[in-house]
Amino acid sequence: MHDVTPFERDAMLTSLRNGGEVDVLVVGGGITGCGVALDAATRGLRTALVERDDFAAGTSSKSSKLVHGGLRYLQQGDIRLVYEALRERFRLRRNAPHLVQILPFMIPILTKDSVVSRKVARALGMAMWMYDLTGGFRIGKFHKRLSADEAFAHMPTTRRDRLRSAYLYFDAMADDARLTLALAQTAAANGATVVNDCEVIGFGEDAGHVRVRDRLTGDEIVVRARVVVNAAGVWTDEIRSLHEGAHPGTLRPAKGVHVTVPWDRVRNDIAVVIPVPGDKRTLFVVPWGRLADGTFRHSYVGTTDTDYTGPLDDPQCTAEDVDYVLRALNAALDRAITEPLTPGDVTASWAGLRPLVAAAESERTADLSRRHVVTTSADGVVRVTGGKLTTYREMADDTVDVVMKRLGRKGRSRTKSMRLVGATKLPAEGVADEGPGHLLGRYGARANDVERLVDDDPSLGGPLVDGLPYLRAEAVYAVRHEMATSLVDVVTRRTRAHLVDREATRRAARDIAELLAPDAGWDESAVTRQVDAYEALCEHEERANRSAEVLPG
Ligand SMILES: Cc1cc2nc3c(=O)[nH]c(=O)nc-3n(C[C@H](O)[C@H](O)[C@H](O)COP(=O)(O)OP(=O)(O)OC[C@H]3O[C@@H](n4cnc5c(N)ncnc54)[C@H](O)[C@@H]3O)c2cc1C
Repeated sequence: MHDVTPFERDAMLTSLRNGGEVDVLVVGGGITGCGVALDAATRGLRTALVERDDFAAGTSSKSSKLVHGGLRYLQQGDIRLVYEALRERFRLRRNAPHLVQILPFMIPILTKDSVVSRKVARALGMAMWMYDLTGGFRIGKFHKRLSADEAFAHMPTTRRDRLRSAYLYFDAMADDARLTLALAQTAAANGATVVNDCEVIGFGEDAGHVRVRDRLTGDEIVVRARVVVNAAGVWTDEIRSLHEGAHPGTLRPAKGVHVTVPWDRVRNDIAVVIPVPGDKRTLFVVPWGRLADGTFRHSYVGTTDTDYTGPLDDPQCTAEDVDYVLRALNAALDRAITEPLTPGDVTASWAGLRPLVAAAESERTADLSRRHVVTTSADGVVRVTGGKLTTYREMADDTVDVVMKRLGRKGRSRTKSMRLVGATKLPAEGVADEGPGHLLGRYGARANDVERLVDDDPSLGGPLVDGLPYLRAEAVYAVRHEMATSLVDVVTRRTRAHLVDREATRRAARDIAELLAPDAGWDESAVTRQVDAYEALCEHEERANRSAEVLPG
């Protein structure tokens, strides 16, 4: 094991600059890259990872946040993919139990326009058994058939007259950005040098000399690496163009959006699969932020799957996307019980790009494989593309196998049962997202460290954003111990305030920036720049979201 560098950016940069040649340099700090860094470090390789923006700033903070097998893939006949994903779901539950919580799902069977017809419902029953066999037994949760009344009780805003029955099955959910961060931290705890705001801008005399720019200072560092792993998600081809000299165009990004709405307009106490009228797709309505009394703060709804040809750095949830999602949601709701939702009810949104590997031109992106691919360029750069959040560990395992071969080293992955930092068991019923449960479900065993900040300064026990559960201490902790370097990092990824309630977060922005200033080293003008940058992000998103009012289903 190498010397462990504290999870601090300056220390990481010093290690990157002065640490000498590494065995493996990972490009990209999404879930895939962080997973690779962990796998490599724990096999004893000298490992470094550079992330251009923040950990999980790409797709890995914009997913549906499900750790799942994907019933849909089972319906498409991809049993192996589902089996592997469910095996990984089990491992993740064991290795990061504080971050990955069981989430019950309901598929309503309707009298008309159901997600599934009655005939298909029977086939779905078979699929459910297979889901149980491939994964349910591992977590001790098996599917059930619900009566119409039982189904209605789980979403008492839906059209009772259209409900025939429902299927109940179990998956899991996780805060994608915090899971990615936990991987980066665990990799660092095992000797890896991991650093954010460091962009690969080119290669030197060969692919083993990588030019990296510190985006905060503009300084350039040349990192020497025996093997480079390109784990840049939808930017994989951009990195390839830097060392291969031409853009290969192998990825076909597909955009997916989510919108957040107040929970009391939907009142689903479990995740519900709803049909999109006039389309073959379904959407998930996921309750978010469980309170001690069993109610929730918000529900988020998604996702879409559309071919994307816009700028990779700026996928947006457009007015058309909001319209699509709200139409589907409103069609599932009974307007005698709850008013149809309008764009004005949307409290936040996010859009991400799936790094799908291009296949035949004619295929819809929804049908492209979610499977991952590990390949090696002629100049020896290993790249890993495709896959899912859920299967990151297996992707990393396969990738580092290839790296080991290139290095002429022996040794198998050790991550199958490796606990991530903070791993601690939660009560079987999970924890509420308020009071002590809030910190436990986000920091696990490290919740004590955040609490200690409050003990030292009780004002840090106050809310970061009015109406949301995050503490001021969490923002300070993010800058001191989680390598957050900007206000945006804190409100979008270390906490998820921006994805829950954009307006409320915006109102708190200056206050948060001032709170962070002493630790972040921001003077007054730097505080203003931080606030302006966040304000610009909000305005940009809002402009994309804006649409005509009222969209009855
Ligand atoms: C809408 C949507 C919903 C999804 N839902 C789920 C789900 O519920 N469950 C599931 O299992 N999967 C889900 N997925 C899939 C999953 O989110 C992705 O497969 C996964 O996050 C991809 O991670 P990644 O690390 O490969 O890419 P990314 O997270 O995009 O990471 C790539 C990183 O590379 C960095 N980078 C780029 N260029 C450079 C450079 N020059 N130098 C240094 N770094 C660079 C980027 O900044 C970025 O952080 C979903 C995907 C989408 C789009």
